[in-house]
Amino acid sequence: MHPFIITIDGPAGVGKSTVARMLAKQLSAVFLDTGASYRAVTVAAMNAGIDMTDTPAVLEMMDRTAFEFEHEGDVLKVFIDGRDVTQAIRQPRVTENVKFVAGQSQLRSRLVILQKQFAAQFDRVVTEGRDQGTVVFPDAASKFFLAADPKERTRRRHEELKAAGKEMDFEMLHEQIVTRDASDENRTVSPLKPASDAIHIDTTHIDAEGVVNRILEVLNEKDG
Ligand code: C5P
Repeated sequence: MHPFIITIDGPAGVGKSTVARMLAKQLSAVFLDTGASYRAVTVAAMNAGIDMTDTPAVLEMMDRTAFEFEHEGDVLKVFIDGRDVTQAIRQPRVTENVKFVAGQSQLRSRLVILQKQFAAQFDRVVTEGRDQGTVVFPDAASKFFLAADPKERTRRRHEELKAAGKEMDFEMLHEQIVTRDASDENRTVSPLKPASDAIHIDTTHIDAEGVVNRILEVLNEKDG
């Protein structure tokens, strides 16, 4: 039987991870952060000194590298060949370089296989990313697309970084978010876009709990 899958897609800083994690807890489902896998491949390629536009070299590196993802409470721990890279994958340099991995169809196909294999192990999955409702799980039980004003998304990311002791200039962060939006929306392979049957939620003026409640309402209405 297919697992029960809920997809949450949307741009950077919109609160997908927080919402997906909270929703998964409420539904006793497993949470899948697909961005972490794009980031992990980027870090591994950077550490190995691989030219990230050299797709065969990145594929070859993926073949000989063990990527592991473990949930520890609310934290998703990421390991490359046993080494903890949970912090490293969030570094601004990685965020800037992730577009090379995200834009390559062969690399994406490889990660999509892993995402599907992961989901197949569980009864219920809440997954978040850019292409979960459109490409990876087109038959998902329910699909959501989150949006928010770019300034508000920058503010959230800024707060998140500050809380983690990594303050960044607001304008620089805003620029980074707008550039990443453009790169995610305009790439030819699996661009960021809502699935035709996705439910849109503008989170600009709603906090994560409010978004989760809205999603639960929609799910209950569907059930009823
Ligand atoms: O969600 P997060 O910001 O960690 O994702 C990092 C990057 O990984 C995104 O900007 C996007 O380019 C890429 N990504 C993707 N498809 C996904 C998840 C992430 O292309 N499903």
